[in-house]
Amino acid sequence: MKKLPETDVVVVGGGWTGLLLAKELTTRSSREVVVLERGPMRRTADYIDDMDELDYAIRLRMMTDVRHETITFRHTSRDRALPVRQHGSFLPGTGVGGGGEHWSGISYRYQPESFRMLSHYRNRYGDARLPAGHALQDWGITYDELEPYYWRAEQMLGLSGKAGNLGGRKIEGGNVFEGPRSHEYPTPPMKMPYLAALFRDATNKMGYHPYPMPAATTSQTYRNPDGVIRSGCVYCGYCERYGCMIGAKAQPTNTLMPVLSKRKSFHLRTECWVRRVVTEGGKARGVMYVDAQGEECFQPAKVVVLASWSVNNTRLLLLSKIGEPYDPATGKGVVGRNLTHQVSAPAAMMFFDEPLNRFIGAGSAGQSIGDVDGDVFDHGSLPFLGGGLLYTVCYGFRPMANFGVVPGSVKAQWGSEWKKAALHHYDRTGRLSLYGDHFAYRANYMDLDPTYKDKHGDPLIRFTMDWTDNERKLCDYMTGKAVEIAKAMGAKQITPFPGLRRYDATRYQSTHIQGGAIMGSSPESSVVNSYQQHWTAPNLFVIGASTFAHSPSSNPTLTALALTYRTAEAIVNKKLNV
Ligand SMILES: Cc1cc2nc3c(=O)[nH]c(=O)nc-3n(C[C@H](O)[C@H](O)[C@H](O)COP(=O)(O)OP(=O)(O)OC[C@H]3O[C@@H](n4cnc5c(N)ncnc54)[C@H](O)[C@@H]3O)c2cc1C
Ligand code: SF4
Repeated sequence: MKKLPETDVVVVGGGWTGLLLAKELTTRSSREVVVLERGPMRRTADYIDDMDELDYAIRLRMMTDVRHETITFRHTSRDRALPVRQHGSFLPGTGVGGGGEHWSGISYRYQPESFRMLSHYRNRYGDARLPAGHALQDWGITYDELEPYYWRAEQMLGLSGKAGNLGGRKIEGGNVFEGPRSHEYPTPPMKMPYLAALFRDATNKMGYHPYPMPAATTSQTYRNPDGVIRSGCVYCGYCERYGCMIGAKAQPTNTLMPVLSKRKSFHLRTECWVRRVVTEGGKARGVMYVDAQGEECFQPAKVVVLASWSVNNTRLLLLSKIGEPYDPATGKGVVGRNLTHQVSAPAAMMFFDEPLNRFIGAGSAGQSIGDVDGDVFDHGSLPFLGGGLLYTVCYGFRPMANFGVVPGSVKAQWGSEWKKAALHHYDRTGRLSLYGDHFAYRANYMDLDPTYKDKHGDPLIRFTMDWTDNERKLCDYMTGKAVEIAKAMGAKQITPFPGLRRYDATRYQSTHIQGGAIMGSSPESSVVNSYQQHWTAPNLFVIGASTFAHSPSSNPTLTALALTYRTAEAIVNKKLNV
């Protein structure tokens, strides 16, 4: 094995969190940082040259190759897990920028209660109301502690939106249910495509509080505090599953790499697949990886950071035998516990008489309501806890991915009648969607699969996960609200979401998988502290949504970035003795 010279910090994964941490450390300290990324280099110029819907959105060019690595899946620990051989319920990214290259850019903050879910629900409704088998716990950090870092992440991204709570002052037109913000959004809201405007007007009339989705698909030319300038979005509709051709959507390659590429202390190595964190005497000593030529290398480092996304972070800890694996039978062990996946569904498909111009859009151009989020409404007589967001996002109705949705009144599934209906409804179809809380449960977890292996011969990660009645009832409740809104929007026909049954590993839901290496206030119940520092190996950090103790309703990346800023600051200020 080739042994390389020691570096100050080695970061595994060149996505949103890994490159942000590298930017902060190389900007605010003299540390040498090596980032190891298993995928290829990516640049905005690539997206200009060869954008194509079949290749990117259908054949998933930017995602991991399931022939190299995938997960195995089962519903319960009594079942036999099988490998997922085609991407299904989520889409892990690869290459510089990670999932951040082809994300949609929807960037909500979590609600203050999200960070202390267990105490909040326990205090308000009592233990007896908590869902059976839950594994909820507080995160060990509060919204107020994280607020300054949210603001730094929002400025870095150039987020577009409208504040609904500035220092406790509620502002109509923003999300009046959000936690207090110290600042207005860096850029104004995006322009609203027609369908989103219908949602806004209908929900307003119904007494809800609609607001523009917080968008990293920036509404106007913006210069961030690092001096990086990005142009405003042109609503081409090729956002999620693609890189932005003009750099309007904040991506690691157009927002962090321009800074990093000027730093002599930053070293990026692509096509380098990390297989183990090497430990000695209770500390991380570096990582073992296979480079682009297939050679095994050892990169020694004073500090090791896992930033390879929630599933891979958990897998690397398990493969490296760091920490006790979680055992659902005893509830002991911490690595792999609290696996969650944001509840996400097309609550109502809506069919209108008039064309909607759906080809105009962006990954986060939309409107949402937070009136049924978290615990902002009384759950006293309801058969579930938690809540979520209802929204319409006009992401751009690209023909291959979206053609062929017809209302239930069309009985034909092929032939000329179906073709006529599909053509007629193509631009008359809209989706009203929901995001919901996914609580953590004792039965949902990750461990190493005993049978199936990746291309290097390492065990795959095994998901054991299913929905419970809490998510099913929450989803039904929100679907009912969505149908009422769809009617008020003027939809002539509506197909409601049929409801959650078993967790479906084949239906794309979102790439918002959390947990596995959660943060908390003690090593008995968590892998890392609130600085995402490993409890027992203090020079090891595990960053990203793997540290989230459950899945709050909204999307995770902004919170992962805010936590990364906080971790970087603590390392730079030598608060953590590394
Ligand atoms: C289609 C799509 C739309 C999305 N939309 C949104 C959205 O609107 N809002 C939102 O909040 N989130 C969204 N997400 C999720 C978002 O992309 C992720 O939350 C975010 O990228 C996570 O950042 P990360 O740094 O943890 O991981 P990533 O950005 O995925 O980076 C991890 C990197 O680690 C690398 N890696 C993994 N294992 C290894 C290894 N063993 N060795 C070396 N490198 C390794 C990977 O190749 C990858 O580049 C979306 C995701 C997808 C796929
Ligand atoms: S819709 Fe806007 S942000 Fe998205 S890819 Fe097009 S120009 Fe970029």
